[in-house]
Amino acid sequence: MTARITHWINGKPWDGVASRTGEVYDPATGKVSGRVDFAGQSEVDSAVAAAAAAFPAWRDSSLAKRSNVLFRFRELLAARKGELAAIVTAEHGKVLDDAAGEVQRALEAVEFACGIPHLLKGGFSENVSTKVDVYSIQQPLGVVAVISPFNFPAMVPLWFVPNAIACGNTVVLKPSEKDPSAAVFIAELWAEAGLPDGVLNVVHGDKVAVDGLLEHRAVKAVSFVGSTPIARYVYETGTRHGKRVQALGGAKNHMVVLPDADLDLAADAAVSAGFGSAGERCMAISVVVAVDPIGDELVGKISSRMASLHIGDGRRTGCEMGPLVTRAHRDRVESYVEAGVASGATLAVDGRGHPVDGEAEGFWLGPTLFDRVSTDMSIYTDEIFGPVLSVVRSPSYDDALELVNSNPYGNGTAIFTNDGGAARRFQNEVEVGMVGVNVPIPVPVGYYSFGGWKDSLFGDTHAYGPHGIHFFTRSKVVTNRWLDPSHGGVNLGFPRNV
Ligand code: NAD
Repeated sequence: MTARITHWINGKPWDGVASRTGEVYDPATGKVSGRVDFAGQSEVDSAVAAAAAAFPAWRDSSLAKRSNVLFRFRELLAARKGELAAIVTAEHGKVLDDAAGEVQRALEAVEFACGIPHLLKGGFSENVSTKVDVYSIQQPLGVVAVISPFNFPAMVPLWFVPNAIACGNTVVLKPSEKDPSAAVFIAELWAEAGLPDGVLNVVHGDKVAVDGLLEHRAVKAVSFVGSTPIARYVYETGTRHGKRVQALGGAKNHMVVLPDADLDLAADAAVSAGFGSAGERCMAISVVVAVDPIGDELVGKISSRMASLHIGDGRRTGCEMGPLVTRAHRDRVESYVEAGVASGATLAVDGRGHPVDGEAEGFWLGPTLFDRVSTDMSIYTDEIFGPVLSVVRSPSYDDALELVNSNPYGNGTAIFTNDGGAARRFQNEVEVGMVGVNVPIPVPVGYYSFGGWKDSLFGDTHAYGPHGIHFFTRSKVVTNRWLDPSHGGVNLGFPRNV
């Protein structure tokens, strides 16, 4: 039986009839597991109206009340994280342990927002002019939209929603139509935690729903995460409609391995970061840059580790890598394996024949390794977003750095070395937003902020942490004078501080 997945508007499931729906798959079996309602303009309007109606009271709610709701949500999420992870695995396909890791990282973002009374403290200056005081306050924006991708259906919505509502905003969340159930589960938990109706709404769907939010007058800000072409579109369309927008895009993350590195550590890291979640991570390593003369040895070590990877249904014990999210995406990624061979790269490991512990109809593709990849090949230039790892040989540190900095993306990168000076130089010179030193996936903890450079981010503000508070508030400065017997007199001059 297939489940119906519908919108969550004003604290309850939507009870209308959708004019369009989409299929949701279990990627490990290839079977349809649900149908999701796609929002048209009227459903978007209803969700935004519910959020707008809830805003005045929520904005005026005390910090004590807001942090209470956040703490309760945190407890519920921690208690039910296994259920949420199972939902993620069922629709996304990543293995259960990986899905549990995703929920754990989401919890970090919630925990940061629990500190909202501290985070919204403003500045105060006494006596800036004689008997005049100045203070700053941070106020919410109003209704904000969050639009998320398929690859982290629990974590990415929770990068934004906790800070947005902690700051006093109300939210319309539009999750990916490929794995929509996690967002509904999360909305139900918020309601159970005591979040008033209308403060968080969920609409499902595709471009129609996204455009409806981008063009809606009552939506004041948009947080988007997805591929670069859509991120650019969302940024341009949203800002043209007068909204504050942060749009996080795609990636091509390079891992530079210097000759002095511990090659076993580097090979473990390349395999973990290249093939975890079947490469469907914006922080996945997709290019290993082997600095001469270690290329042959490193490729050998990576290849031997790949042979033993256990690929299969993420619900089965021992599986390390699951299927790809849809059949179309699997076919697209497989076409890159063919393109890599055709363009002359060395196919060191061919994932197409890898054994699978799962049903034949699942969207499987084993891990693939290309060696001697050059920068004109599509396997190098394109974000593949699957289990395909490329090795580029580089003659020196300087050439490796030039390679990373010439790439249009700038999300994450890593350097593997035992030379602290080289690592420090790399950290300084590399044009990428998140850098790991002997750490392959340097996703910042919840009290820092997440974001790339160049084509990996449109807008100035990164996600969650301190940037999140900045994004979801606007500041006001109040200049204050209380009457004193010494006041008085008309003065048409510009206010001077004396
Ligand atoms: P996507 O761009 O296809 O979709 C993202 C969101 O945009 C979804 O909600 C989708 O419904 C909507 N959308 C899709 N097409 C649209 C259109 N034409 N107009 C308006 N809205 C549209 O991305 P995806 O395939 O769901 O996710 C994978 C991508 O997300 C990868 O490129 C990955 O690198 C990126 N990503 C980036 C980060 C980051 O932090 N930078 C994090 C996770 C994923």
